[in-house]
Amino acid sequence: MGEWDVVVAGAGHNSLLTAAYAARAGLKVLVLEGAAHIGGDTTSEELTLPGFTHDPCSTAHNLIQSNPLMRNDELQLDRYGLRYLYPDPVFTMPFRDGRSITMWRDVERTCGELARFSAADANAYRQLLADWQDMAPIVNDERENPPRPPPEVAARTAGSPLGEKLQAIRRSTALDIIAERFTDDYVRAFFAWIAFMTLHPLDEPETGLLAFSLVAGRQRFSWILPEGGSIRLPVALARIIEENGGTVLTSTPVTRIVVEGGRATGVVTADGSIYRASKAVVSTIHIRQLPAIIGEDNLPAAYRAGVARWKPSLTMFAAHYALSEAPRFKTESGPIESVTMGGLQSLASLSRMLSAYREGRLDLDDPVFLAITPTVIDPSRAPAGKHTFKLISFLPYELAEGPEHWDEVKDDVASRLFERLAPLTTNLSERIVLGRHVDSPLDLERRNPANWRGSCHGGASTPEQSGWFRPVEGWSTYRTPVEGLYQTGACTHPGGSVSGLPGRNCAAILLADLGSSLDQAIQVKETVR
Ligand SMILES: Cc1cc2nc3c(=O)[nH]c(=O)nc-3n(C[C@H](O)[C@H](O)[C@H](O)COP(=O)(O)OP(=O)(O)OC[C@H]3O[C@@H](n4cnc5c(N)ncnc54)[C@H](O)[C@@H]3O)c2cc1C
Repeated sequence: MGEWDVVVAGAGHNSLLTAAYAARAGLKVLVLEGAAHIGGDTTSEELTLPGFTHDPCSTAHNLIQSNPLMRNDELQLDRYGLRYLYPDPVFTMPFRDGRSITMWRDVERTCGELARFSAADANAYRQLLADWQDMAPIVNDERENPPRPPPEVAARTAGSPLGEKLQAIRRSTALDIIAERFTDDYVRAFFAWIAFMTLHPLDEPETGLLAFSLVAGRQRFSWILPEGGSIRLPVALARIIEENGGTVLTSTPVTRIVVEGGRATGVVTADGSIYRASKAVVSTIHIRQLPAIIGEDNLPAAYRAGVARWKPSLTMFAAHYALSEAPRFKTESGPIESVTMGGLQSLASLSRMLSAYREGRLDLDDPVFLAITPTVIDPSRAPAGKHTFKLISFLPYELAEGPEHWDEVKDDVASRLFERLAPLTTNLSERIVLGRHVDSPLDLERRNPANWRGSCHGGASTPEQSGWFRPVEGWSTYRTPVEGLYQTGACTHPGGSVSGLPGRNCAAILLADLGSSLDQAIQVKETVR
């Protein structure tokens, strides 16, 4: 079915980004997506009722804002319909006893909220943001480049302005950092909740940086979301690919990567079609599914063993609602509508959640929540005056009864979470519900094979699955043991979330290997104008 320079398996935002840079650099690119639509976990669908556009997975596009793609406007995505909205408040966190903390875009207004609990904690917040300014250049540089060997990372850290202090923060748990810097229990819960938003268990070593990066990122960019739905990002990327002579096909799962003479030369799709790639194949197929698709014999034993050890990340449970009015959250200044609401009563609630998670138990008495109502800032996502609402909690894929048990209990679980949230609002009840759609962790895997075992971030970002070791030691630079085959997506450095960094980093390596460069791709914009 034709001859292409580069064939890309999967159309998540990362692989689309790799494809977009490659197409801009003059390569003839074909993208093959297994699902009926592009985007993977960065998509939007009418899940409940006609006219209600929901984001089944991601809504916040925070991490991608620090990517040079956005920072330097490398692909001019606004020309392709991508426009970001910055909610204010950033998010609100009501507590069951009537107290509340709200993050506002204005730092001093946020400090005012914290000072109601502790003036010292408000100052500690200013200091935390200042410390992140010193760390950000070195941390962002690591994320924006292929991973370096651990001794090099350690040497660069030691040589940075923060030196040993930064090294100690890296090694710490985020919970230790929060406990060291803040005194008040409500304030500690507030920061722990933000630091938890990329789903790393905050009691594990080497999570310390999250207490800085995620907090500062929200304060700077708010709960930033694309107007019209999460899918606007992949749609913009697909348009760039097509404008530069490429093709994006949906409902075309890749079932085999063709390897000839030790080199990837194309792919076979479910209908038996063969698509030839003269220069490279790029995969965003989940790393655990890759050996079966390449052929085990084409991979060295060390690589296969590394893949076999791969562990999933924490998983989410998502219930989507069409509502006749936006939830109004109780705060100390009165009820407010807020795009984002955080639900964590205390650090003890987080420990309780993590314990239940690790034991495969459903503990719904004191759940951790993330509630998002995008229509508070983006009315284009629903009929006039109506709202889309997403209620997320963090529940295990591996139930003690087995993951299939989710099909029996998911509707009841959604109802119980809704009931637990309602008292934190003045108006959330069945009265305002027009429609509902529930995705258990098992459903999230069914929706996207890259959500392996419900993993929303490719796999855990533990030390042995991060940086130089992601996905497999020796193969963290987006190249694979098969010549001409490149791997991107959440299973590669620096991991999951809508960051676009695995996609851009992979493009840099791919283009360099093909005698081109990111610069060459970026310069094209000048001639397009
Ligand atoms: C419920 C939920 C909420 C989330 N919320 C946020 C959020 O608000 N902010 C945030 O930053 N992150 C969020 N995330 C995480 C984030 O969405 C993902 O980490 C990120 O989108 C992964 O992007 P990706 O490009 O690596 O891959 P994916 O988006 O997973 O895309 C992979 C694509 O490859 C396709 N594919 C796989 N195998 C094949 C094959 N064999 N042939 C063809 N195609 C194939 C899949 O169908 C899919 O389209 C959330 C995730 C979930 C599940």
